[in-house]
Amino acid sequence: GATIGILGGGQLGRMLGVAAAQLGYRIHVFAPESGPANDIASAFTRAGYLEQDELIAFARTCDVVTYEFENVPLAALAAIADRVPIRPGVKALEIAQVRTSEKNFVRELGGRTAPFAAVNSLAELEAAIAEIGTPSILKTVSMGYDGKGQVRLNAADQAAEAWEAVKGAPSILEGFVEFSHEFSILIARGPDGEVATWAAPWNLHKEGILDLSRVPAPREIAEQAEEAFELAKKVADATEYVGVLTLEFFATADGPVFNEMAPRVHNSGHWTIEGAETSQFENHVRAICGLPLGSTELTAKKAEMENLIGADVDRWPEFLAEPGAHLHLYGKRESRPGRKMGHVTRLRR
Ligand code: ATP
Ligand code: MG
Ligand code: MG
Repeated sequence: GATIGILGGGQLGRMLGVAAAQLGYRIHVFAPESGPANDIASAFTRAGYLEQDELIAFARTCDVVTYEFENVPLAALAAIADRVPIRPGVKALEIAQVRTSEKNFVRELGGRTAPFAAVNSLAELEAAIAEIGTPSILKTVSMGYDGKGQVRLNAADQAAEAWEAVKGAPSILEGFVEFSHEFSILIARGPDGEVATWAAPWNLHKEGILDLSRVPAPREIAEQAEEAFELAKKVADATEYVGVLTLEFFATADGPVFNEMAPRVHNSGHWTIEGAETSQFENHVRAICGLPLGSTELTAKKAEMENLIGADVDRWPEFLAEPGAHLHLYGKRESRPGRKMGHVTRLRR
């Protein structure tokens, strides 16, 4: 059995590890610190990880390295890139780390995005509001997740307040998209360009955080999923992607509007563990290890994943007792409001 290295120690890495173990692989996790994304990202470059060759020593023990969060510093990958294959690779990561880059990249490939403008000062924010209008959303260009680092603008006079809310960090102003539904495309791509995709889930958010993912999705999504999939395939091909890639979309009257991408397995794909013949985690492992991809067919008529956020997790005994509910707990020591603590998947056969 070969050894897979995973950069990052969160729940996505845990679930990747389970899938890898099932296929007989060993797992080495490199997780300098647990905590918010910012802390983890900076921990990779702090404390001399690069200088002390710890990362290189880690890479030496791995046959392939993957990452489970998109804020791995590029410098960390550069330090090991000549020693071990890194999959999905650096290109998609570099693009996905910066909201303006991912939107420009997708536009060049023919995708739709919300109107947007880069904002690096209050004056630029005022100019962007004049151009894009309100309602709109100001987001930091990097490090944001679960709706963190975002502020909604309902009127032009909220500029100063919004700029303060993002602490003056390099940001992007996006026009608010009128959508009927949100969905995502998860695509697995092997080293030879073979691709597989799952049914596109309908994703419902609460306060900027994913709450539910449901398949099959309603008609409004099903009608737009093919076009969205073609775009995802272009992104995967253009970045010579190997592994699972996720693109988030809004279903609108004008067709699918790209929101953002994640160069990794994704929360909206957790239902695939029980709800698909091959899970997103297993197909990621298969892809990065050069194995053929597995079937992505549904195993049930319907599947729904519910996130357990913050205190939701306290209801775990209830979920354990519920017939047909598949409970996943992430083993985090403390629950905080807004923190993803686990999820439950329910199938309708
Ligand atoms: P994630 O945890 O998915 O990485 P994130 O912090 O990167 O979240 P986004 O996905 O950009 O944030 O936004 C979170 C949610 O906010 C979206 O799923 C959507 O519900 C809403 N949203 C974001 N941008 C827009 C927009 N331009 N128009 C309308 N709604 C939006
Ligand atoms: Mg995001
Ligand atoms: Mg998102």
